[in-house]
Amino acid sequence: MGQPNKLGYFGLYGGRFVPETLIVALLDLEKEYKLARRDKSFRRELKRLLQTYAGRPTALYHAKRLTEKWKGAQIYLKREDLTHTGAHKINNCLGQGLLAVRMGRKRLIAETGAGQHGVAVATVASLFGLACTVYMGKTDMARQAPNVNRMKLLKAEVIGVGSGSKTLKDATNEAIRDWVTNVSSTHYIIGSTVGPHPYPLIVRDFQSIIGRETKAQAKRMLKKLPEVIIACVGGGSNSLGIFHDFIKETKVRLIGVETSGFGLHTGQHAATLSRGKPGVLHGSFSFLLQDKEGQIRPTHSIAAGLDYPGVGPEHSHLKSTGRAEYVTVTDKQALAAFVELSQMEGIIPALESSFALAYAKRLAPQLGRKRTIIVNLSGRGDKDMATVQQLLDVGNGSGDKKR
Ligand SMILES: *Cc1c(COP(=O)(O)O)cnc(C)c1O
Repeated sequence: MGQPNKLGYFGLYGGRFVPETLIVALLDLEKEYKLARRDKSFRRELKRLLQTYAGRPTALYHAKRLTEKWKGAQIYLKREDLTHTGAHKINNCLGQGLLAVRMGRKRLIAETGAGQHGVAVATVASLFGLACTVYMGKTDMARQAPNVNRMKLLKAEVIGVGSGSKTLKDATNEAIRDWVTNVSSTHYIIGSTVGPHPYPLIVRDFQSIIGRETKAQAKRMLKKLPEVIIACVGGGSNSLGIFHDFIKETKVRLIGVETSGFGLHTGQHAATLSRGKPGVLHGSFSFLLQDKEGQIRPTHSIAAGLDYPGVGPEHSHLKSTGRAEYVTVTDKQALAAFVELSQMEGIIPALESSFALAYAKRLAPQLGRKRTIIVNLSGRGDKDMATVQQLLDVGNGSGDKKR
């Protein structure tokens, strides 16, 4: 279940819309990936690194004080924030890094929004002794400065992109341009379930460890499957990662949360599935935010990792079949959830993850205490402190003026 067809389509969505020079590279990648997936020594090495380097399995945590406060369903958190480098991105990067080594590539390139993916790529480049170049929009470089410094320390070259909105979409264009030029020496690690086939499949598979662990943990701890799983949707990798093993469990509600930024009515958001239309962006056919002429619309979110006008093709498919539900949360609601989790449980979540959490808060009282919601806590919030401090006075923990 959940496999794309031969041309890389999930239902109507996906495909391979790239310049001629990249087709051969994509076919090679697909072939190598299929071999690697069946290769016991590849699987063993990936498993070893996930356990001893990334820190898997990550915990499933019962947030009792939050549950009490929200007066409803039991809230559990899948703790991807506890992984090495602080977000789920490392799962995919270890997998693709091993693939790059297997293909004899000497250099990794990547695009990054929040900087989490760039850090994870720079990390595996050091781990495997590969050169590394990361493209990042200049707006994102400013709001995610700690991650830029991390990448540089790890010996990656970080190239600031000043075109367009200076965010993830523009960084992606530059990374594609680099790959076209250097395709024989370079592997392009795409950081989410987006891009041309086979990337959405590869990234989903490497992230599906999240859902497999979650299912086993739920059976052990709850003696049942959860009623609801909630995850935030940027390109869609942490959500598909936790959803994948539950797609066949039709009683489990799967909810993807997009960012409505300042509010859907303001037009300043990145709610691609809720407000977009199908079209081609960055190599695949999927929902995207576009104007009447088909030009990509500017997006807004306080969470850099969600600030992207596209979404992975498998999500467009899950939306069209109705297997997953897609909802939106505003910046303001996410920020409140960010503060609430920090203060009720001592866990500072990534701003991205706070969107999923905010929706759990809305849903929990409607379900009652016997039900369980698992929220995928995709990352930790250290990287967001500068953004949050600008928005809140957290000096005395209540948002009041400092004494
Ligand atoms: C990158 C990122 C996201 C968004 O990307 P997806 O591919 O949709 O998961 C969400 N949370 C965190 C912490 C991230 O770093």
